[in-house]
Amino acid sequence: MTAPLPTQVDIAIVGGGMVGASLALALAATAKRVLLIEAHVPDSSDQPSFDDRTTALGNGSRRVFETLGVWPRLAAHATAVLEIRVSDAGHAGAARLHAAEQGLEALGYVVPNRQLGLALWQQLAAHPSIAIRNPARLSDLRLDVDRARLTINAASESIEARVVVAADGAQSRVRAAAGIGAEVEDYEQVAVVVHVATDLPSAGIAYERFTATGPLAVLPLTDGRYTVVWTLAPDRAREICALDDAAFSAALQLDFGWRIGRIAQVGARAAYPLRLSRAERMTGTRAVLVGNAAQALHPVAGQGFNLGLRDAALLAEILATAPDPGAPAVLETYERRRAADRRGMIGFTDGLVRLFGSDLPDVAVARNLSLALFDLAPGAKRALSRLSWGFGGDAPRLLRGLPVN
Ligand SMILES: Cc1cc2nc3c(=O)[nH]c(=O)nc-3n(C[C@H](O)[C@H](O)[C@H](O)COP(=O)(O)OP(=O)(O)OC[C@H]3O[C@@H](n4cnc5c(N)ncnc54)[C@H](O)[C@@H]3O)c2cc1C
Repeated sequence: MTAPLPTQVDIAIVGGGMVGASLALALAATAKRVLLIEAHVPDSSDQPSFDDRTTALGNGSRRVFETLGVWPRLAAHATAVLEIRVSDAGHAGAARLHAAEQGLEALGYVVPNRQLGLALWQQLAAHPSIAIRNPARLSDLRLDVDRARLTINAASESIEARVVVAADGAQSRVRAAAGIGAEVEDYEQVAVVVHVATDLPSAGIAYERFTATGPLAVLPLTDGRYTVVWTLAPDRAREICALDDAAFSAALQLDFGWRIGRIAQVGARAAYPLRLSRAERMTGTRAVLVGNAAQALHPVAGQGFNLGLRDAALLAEILATAPDPGAPAVLETYERRRAADRRGMIGFTDGLVRLFGSDLPDVAVARNLSLALFDLAPGAKRALSRLSWGFGGDAPRLLRGLPVN
């Protein structure tokens, strides 16, 4: 990580979080000169992408990681989700989705973000072809018609690239420098994330319970514990996070019930304010957006990273074969080919938040009817279990198990 910094590259990736690190790996086997710039050391406690959360990976993401050679490093930490149980607090509607009924080994896999970061960065270290600056922060960016000029670490280093990739998260500095606006909608909800141990160890069952304050997801972990993602109004989240362990367990048990047994131990609580952020375009002059820099979603359906990984997979494939990877026609191809998946997944996730967030009686009746119908509809279940392969458009090569070029 201390190799001399190249002064000219084809592709500079700003942000080595979950999506940026995956993109760098996807480009590792290509002939392009790639530089990855990341502000935080991957295993540091302040790394914002690889924190104490867990991520539900869809089968499509597993396939991408298998193709990139990352999966063997992750497999031992990944909990297969064999069944998902959905319920609506205070109403009768409920539904179950089984992997076996869909002919699948698993509906998805729950992976601790820290392990994901470790696996991605260990795999990067095995590819010396990728130049890495870490820890290093992009401090300035100038975008001209023929190149991007990046300044790193407050003017101490500068570099030119044919294209700069914004993988620097929802508050993207690259996006701002490219003059691309983002539409932000505050859900006025906070996700409280905590790991719990109960007297009924997890066994591959994930729960999604829709409550009056928002969805409450409970995901199984390999060590028998669960990750809880509890969506609450901001005031209530503050109150809940300030409770001692016993009072916190009692409040959680009250909202979630006894499906996972009695809560015996709770870990540290972390809070994430929830917003939908959607960049108005995915590309600008010599700049292109992936992951949260392009769109940050509500975690209700666990799709944000899965969608961002498909951004990275397709972008790698398009850039790999382009003589000038920052040419307008190349970037337009990326924007066009990502449009259907992006639009579909944003609409699906936002629609779920609204459908299950409403306490209007008519909406409550409609959603309980939908849940009951869903439970009886094999076609709808099949469609849902295939969500992680994308929402239409053509699937990237990595998702089909093929190398990027
Ligand atoms: C509570 C919660 C639960 C979630 N659960 C799921 C789930 O189950 N499944 C799922 O698919 N998604 C889930 N998500 C969404 C997922 O976390 C995001 O989609 C994912 O983190 C996006 O990754 P990213 O790499 O695009 O951005 P980030 O994770 O924000 O990473 C950005 C990176 O850029 C670096 N950076 C920023 N600025 C600079 C700079 N100037 N210079 C250098 N580096 C910089 C940062 O240090 C960071 O490493 C969840 C989100 C939340 C909030």
